Formats: sequence, C-alpha cells, structure tokens
Amino acid sequence: MSISCPYCKSQNPSSQSRALIVAAGYFIRRSDNTREQRFSCKPCKRTFSTATPKVCYRQRKRHINPLIYGTMASGISQRRLAFLLKINRKTVIRRLLFLGITSDGVSKQLRSEYPLATDVQFDELETFEHSKLKPLSVITAVETETRRILGFRVARMPAKGLLAKKSVKKYGKRIDERQKCRRQLFEEIKPFLTDNCILRSDENPHYKNDVKKFFPNSEHKTYLGRQGCVVGQGELKAGGFDPLFSLNHTYAMKRANVNRLFRRTWNTTKKPERLALHLAVYTLYHNEFLIWNKAR
Ligand SMILES: [Zn+2]
Repeated sequence: MSISCPYCKSQNPSSQSRALIVAAGYFIRRSDNTREQRFSCKPCKRTFSTATPKVCYRQRKRHINPLIYGTMASGISQRRLAFLLKINRKTVIRRLLFLGITSDGVSKQLRSEYPLATDVQFDELETFEHSKLKPLSVITAVETETRRILGFRVARMPAKGLLAKKSVKKYGKRIDERQKCRRQLFEEIKPFLTDNCILRSDENPHYKNDVKKFFPNSEHKTYLGRQGCVVGQGELKAGGFDPLFSLNHTYAMKRANVNRLFRRTWNTTKKPERLALHLAVYTLYHNEFLIWNKAR
C-alpha cells in the first residue's frame, strides 16, 4: 500500500519508490503503547504518521471511547460517567460530540449495506431543551420487523396547551421545524425503502401529504393513538396488539437508555444539536447490539 501525504496528497509513484514520501522514524504512543511510523513529505516538507488520518488523532485518552459509547447508550449521565472514569466533564462532552459524529457516519454506512426496508413505522417523540416551555420533537423511522432505526431528526416546536402562553411570554415565539425535519428525514431514508413500501403512523393529519409526495407508490396505514400502559411510559400501549409496536418499543428504549429523555429526569438537553449527537450514538448502539440483527 502506498502512503499519501494527508496535507498535500503527494504519493510515491510505486511502492518501492522513495521519491516523495520517506520514512522518518517512529513513536510509541503512551496511552496504548502502539508503535506509529512517522513519514516526511518532500514536496510540502511536513511530517505525518500512520496516526494522522485516523479518527482518534490527537486524543489522549482513546481507551475510554468504547466505554463512553456503551454507557452513553445505557442511561448514564455525563456527570456520573466523568466521576466513574475519573475524567473531566469537559472530556465526556468532547467525546460525546466525537462519538456522535462518528456513530452517525457508521450508521449511515451500515444502512446502505442492509436490504431495502419493505415495512416502516414513523412517529414523533416529545422532549424538551432546558425547560418544558421549549419542547423538541424527535421524529424517528423504524423498520417494523427488526426495530432497526433507519433515521431520525430533532426539531424545535412551540409549546402546546397550558404552557403555550407562558412560553411565548418568557422566550418569545418559537419556530416550528417539525415539517422541515420530517421532509428531510423522508428525503434521507427514501433510497433505503422499496418502492412499494408500507408506511405506518398515527393519524396525524400532516403526515398524509408528505408520505404521498416522497413515497408515491407506498401504502400509508394510519392507526388511532392509544393510552400508555405504564405511568410515564406513554410509548408502550395498554391492552392488545399495537400496530406501531416496533416504533413505540424503540421509543420506550430510547426513554430508558438515553438519560436526557428519561421522564422526570435529573438531566435535560441544553442544546438540540447535542441531543441529536447523543441519539446518533444510541442509534448505532441500538442497531448493532440491542436488536436482533439479521446481518450477524
Ligand atoms: Zn505533503
């Protein structure tokens, strides 16, 4: 394999040639005792190593990544995790952002390797940023048979009911991004669904037209909303067969495993973007370890 310079993209013309890139010693990384080869690039006069293009480049505590990945998808708070691992809370946050972006990339790569989905459920889960006066909606699409999460979006929405007036008074008018995010999600997952796919959702009047627009040959089945069966677990429905079980079960799992979605929680989301990254970590963990996976 011929090595290319990460800065100017120079490459030796053949694997035997040392015309442009030459070896320049090595170093042993202290955190995991790994030997990394250094190289020097003649055209741009810079040096780099086998570690330079890796995703963990410049991380001093890369060994904690798998732990953070697992625990952030298992309902542990950032503060508790910092305490348990004896690391700074800022480190936890930085790694969560890093893992969020990386997990999102991996999830998208894996999604393209699965067979096209023939039966999909979608719905919105409500949570909030900072205060109940600033609600958020998480729209998620789940494959019915396997409960695999195909995609999700986090949208800001205005407060409803009794909180609406108070919210406007305190924070001003809040934008509603639900439609935009729903359409973005549909656009994103469209290539991973069969043309005549079945889509299932509740009877939200806004869904019908969007489904028709993005999935013209699909069949849209809608179901009446039902009461939750467990107090505080609105997603798991009481009594009998739930046609949206895969989706509601996935939502219940998110509520149980992503600490900032717990009801009556100690932790809340302060920034919607962070919730999205946290959910990206959960999505990969869910698809890889928590559901029965045909591909494995
Ligand atoms: Zn170079």
